[in-house]
Amino acid sequence: MIGVLSLQGAINEHQKVLDNLGVDNRAVLEPTDLEGLDGLIIPGGESTAIKKLMVFNGLFPAIKKLVQNGLPTFGTCAGMVLLSQPESFDTIDATVVRNGFGRQQQSFEEDLAIQGLDGPFHAVFIRAPYLTNVGSDVKVLAKIDDRVIAVTKDNVLATAFHPELTPDSRLHKYFIENFVHQTV
Ligand code: GLN
Repeated sequence: MIGVLSLQGAINEHQKVLDNLGVDNRAVLEPTDLEGLDGLIIPGGESTAIKKLMVFNGLFPAIKKLVQNGLPTFGTCAGMVLLSQPESFDTIDATVVRNGFGRQQQSFEEDLAIQGLDGPFHAVFIRAPYLTNVGSDVKVLAKIDDRVIAVTKDNVLATAFHPELTPDSRLHKYFIENFVHQTV
């Protein structure tokens, strides 16, 4: 069972991709929704808003503990921000630059080579962050110039872009197979 943090942002889109892959999933709105999860998706949206809502309803300490204790977790865009910020989940050793590619109007799409996937991935960037000063234990899966935009670290996968906004489900499949260890 995969949880999709459902406080704000691109929530239904992630659930649709999981549904299409035949992966059981549920919305996570409060701490009891975390019980028995095999993995968690932290969607894109607005990281400050998502964090405020998590603190407000008690999800923040509960998720932080689970992620730091090894729960397979996939963060996209704002999810990458939360997984990286030292003051948030602090699981990826890197400096995160929020809105690193510019504001809403500088949103863009690009076909990217991503390590671990066969063939290019059409990636949608919306007020996307990037990572820099990435630690040696962080595996970089993709970059644009010097900007790191897809990584893994232990139980965590994070992308600066929105894989749930395109019909290509390879990154979700990659997460489920390599992190959650379920066959899809
Ligand atoms: N810039 C946003 C933030 O820092 C993330 C944007 C997104 O998730 N599309 O929260």
